[in-house]
Amino acid sequence: MRNAPTILHLDMDAFYASVEQAAKPSLRGKAVVVGGLGPRGVVATASYEARVFGVHSAMPMAQARRLAPNAAYLVPRFSVYRSVSEQVMALLRELSPLVEPLSLDEAFVDLEARGAAWDAESARQTGTRLRADIRAVTGLTGSVGLAASKMLAKIASEQAKPDGLVLIEPGTERALLGPMPVRTLPGVGPATGDHLRRAGITTVEELAEAGEDELVRLLGRAHGQALYAMALARDDRPVVAERETKSVSVEDTYDVDIHDRLRVGLEVQRLADRCVRRLREAGLSGRTIVLKVRRYDFSTLTRSETLRGPTDDPAVVREAAARLLESVDTTGGVRLLGVGVSGLADYTQEDLFAQAAGERASEPPVEEADPVVVEEEPRPEERHWRPGQDVRHAAYGPGWVQGSGLGRVTVRFETPQSGPGRVRTFRVDDAELEPAEPLPLVQGPDHPPPCPGQSGGPRHRAPPELPEAGLSATADQEGPGTCQASSVPASLPKSWSGRVEDGAMSRP
Ligand SMILES: [Mg+2]
Repeated sequence: MRNAPTILHLDMDAFYASVEQAAKPSLRGKAVVVGGLGPRGVVATASYEARVFGVHSAMPMAQARRLAPNAAYLVPRFSVYRSVSEQVMALLRELSPLVEPLSLDEAFVDLEARGAAWDAESARQTGTRLRADIRAVTGLTGSVGLAASKMLAKIASEQAKPDGLVLIEPGTERALLGPMPVRTLPGVGPATGDHLRRAGITTVEELAEAGEDELVRLLGRAHGQALYAMALARDDRPVVAERETKSVSVEDTYDVDIHDRLRVGLEVQRLADRCVRRLREAGLSGRTIVLKVRRYDFSTLTRSETLRGPTDDPAVVREAAARLLESVDTTGGVRLLGVGVSGLADYTQEDLFAQAAGERASEPPVEEADPVVVEEEPRPEERHWRPGQDVRHAAYGPGWVQGSGLGRVTVRFETPQSGPGRVRTFRVDDAELEPAEPLPLVQGPDHPPPCPGQSGGPRHRAPPELPEAGLSATADQEGPGTCQASSVPASLPKSWSGRVEDGAMSRP
């Protein structure tokens, strides 16, 4: 393990909900819940104001509504989250070539790779500057953890939340971890936590004291050893750039085309299991499940679905693959099937022990309640108004749908740069009302992100409250006069946005 706290973990604060609050002035300081609003929907993100009521991510939406009946409930707007994410990741890649995204709003950065930091002081300065840059470019806050290992950096950013920075000085790790609950460690979920508690182990210190042999006896070899190493703050995993592009997959070609839908389903389940075995053998887990189908006419389709966090649970991968298969027409026959997992991570954020025991608890473990991050973008051609959706009215301008029902739709007319706006109600088929592109959260010459290597003075950034110049600009438009030649920094790999785009295919 290195001896300087130069691994940085960035985690944006209540990301989806914060984006919605930035976009919708009337929701600032209010309880906001983003997620699936259908009967099986779960919470993707709750604003801090909503968390006060006990609402948290992965909670069933119905339960959230009972806890916080007055919160704003919105559908996710992934295209906006993606574009903000690209801005944030571009800032991270200015610091280091070694950026390992874990999700749209979370990443590790190795600050030593390009000399952005070499000791505690320089690491703290870099982290502080990064937080200021993120705020200037996106208008949002992110929390930063700095430590000598990935595990500790992630724990530090969790402690820093919201809107803070925590640096763990090398040498202090064990003293810091000692009194923390075992659930702090990655991979320790409710099942492992309960199991350890029954053995009298509730803190990380008690884990370390129990010793490796005892933990192996309790949890099995792989997890016992892994947990013991974590309890001693031993973690040598490197920050790996572009891990997201790698994948583990298996496929089978059939001598005779399969026509029977049931049989196709069974084959997909079998392939999912085989894929998970490979994944586990490699000590990996992944977030994106990919299904490949080659049909009788050699046309090949791939479908993918991105989960909330990495998994190596065969049941989760089987279910995702089965859902993806539902969106594929296999009449006429299938000659090849494949299942893959990409978006790989070293360990799962789910409960290691629960998986080891092969449990599918009647009460689903928190992190795998539902793969909520299936793309749910509204299709513009549909006159179906969803809460949170961007609209434009011929007379009143840009706004968003606050609610609809009984043939009416309520729209609040406000923009990221306006004050809280007024509400008006229309008939759902009002010809003057139409779906619109999202507006950028921050406007000014610095949007999109700055170009690396461009000469000139310090970066100019627009104040957050800019007058309404160019209010009708879409998120894709570039600011005037800035870096037209290279609006996408060379350091921004295509794979980042490309990977995320994959999710779009998952829509049945
Ligand atoms: Mg976050």
